[in-house]
Amino acid sequence: MGDRLVDGARERAETGANPVMEASLGWKTLDDVALAGKTVLVRVDINVPMEAGQVTDATRIEKIVPTVEDIIARGGKVVLLAHFDRPKGKVVPEMSLSHVAPALEAALGRKVVFGADCVGDVAKAAIAAAAPGDVVLLENTRFHPGEEKNDPALAQGMAALGDIFVNDAFSAAHRAHASTAALAHLLPAAAGRLMEAELRALEAALGNPVRPVVAVVGGAKVSTKLDLLGNLVTKVDHLVIGGGMANTFLVAQGVEVGKSLAERDMADTAREILGKAQAAGCTIHLPVDIVVAREFKAGAASETLPVAQCPADAMILDAGPATVAALVKVFEASKTLIWNGPLGAFEIKPFDAATNAAAQAAARLTKAGKLVSVAGGGDTVAALNAADAADDFTFISTAGGAFLEWMEGKELPGVAALGA
Ligand code: ADP
Ligand code: MG
Repeated sequence: MGDRLVDGARERAETGANPVMEASLGWKTLDDVALAGKTVLVRVDINVPMEAGQVTDATRIEKIVPTVEDIIARGGKVVLLAHFDRPKGKVVPEMSLSHVAPALEAALGRKVVFGADCVGDVAKAAIAAAAPGDVVLLENTRFHPGEEKNDPALAQGMAALGDIFVNDAFSAAHRAHASTAALAHLLPAAAGRLMEAELRALEAALGNPVRPVVAVVGGAKVSTKLDLLGNLVTKVDHLVIGGGMANTFLVAQGVEVGKSLAERDMADTAREILGKAQAAGCTIHLPVDIVVAREFKAGAASETLPVAQCPADAMILDAGPATVAALVKVFEASKTLIWNGPLGAFEIKPFDAATNAAAQAAARLTKAGKLVSVAGGGDTVAALNAADAADDFTFISTAGGAFLEWMEGKELPGVAALGA
């Protein structure tokens, strides 16, 4: 499903209707490098799910096609570097990228020449054997212990294979590994098209956004999103806090939340975040009404109450309609939205209602050209898909950990290396 979203964003980008694609970018892209006659090492994320030797979801493979085609069209020879699963520095035959080669051939409609090592004579021979228009796929970088250690010697071995390094694996860019970090410093380096789209979206959402900016942060716990909240309050104009983590903020303000998920030991931390937001001029929005139930299961009897009236034996499982209405007003007054974390326990109906309504409002405003909307996070992507809203967002990041680290304001080693 994820590819549909990114494709939607890409289509809008190609027709020039996507404001995200118009801003200048602080990183080198494929547009900044000459490719004719060059051997181009392309770090990709093709860590696809497999069952019984078959790729069950080729989304990640499909997403690298534009980069590969662009390089070949401009006269470059493509050599793919990638990890697959977690072999932990040893050769594990089931984790060989050779199993992925057929799906890659199918997606590209090109011959894939497999090299059974990512460095040395075996790799060189595969590259030499590839005819123009063929794509070389080298073996799992994580078969070498040096990959996850960011070993300069391993990176040297990879650099010796080509002329230019292109990183198209944003989802692996938060890791300083030999093929994502060290290698990027040894050759002229640039972002591939997929990485470029992600960087543009994140820049438009947080780096250099059109204001006002509203961030929505939901999900289960404050403790997993402390760095995120701390960074966002200094960057955005409005911060909407929802989901289970809102309960912790309510507790911090002396509101009783009954049997709700809440981290009572985080109340001081929540108060610190509120103080930091106030100092930075960021307005915090907490639920004003709640949907509560006695049981967390589908079809459990639920009721909507003002936020201060959670019964002692009940759990808050979603935000109420007044909260959603207030939030939609904030969306309408904003130019940019960045979203991570559902507003309620969306996996179980009817506790998906607030997330669905807010997502649909964001999608509608985006479609009308009034909002740049960027979202990411495993459960968030699932929730926006379930709300049938994801297609109309400006950009949906499926990068997981790398997306979150970016939102936390951390420098991603694989991105920093592409600095112009
Ligand atoms: P993401 O994967 O997008 O980063 P999180 O993992 O942080 O998002 O949060 C998603 C989880 O938060 C979901 O499993 C959802 O059920 C849970 N959640 C949201 N609101 C509540 C709530 N009020 N009570 C309990 N769990 C909640
Ligand atoms: Mg999650």
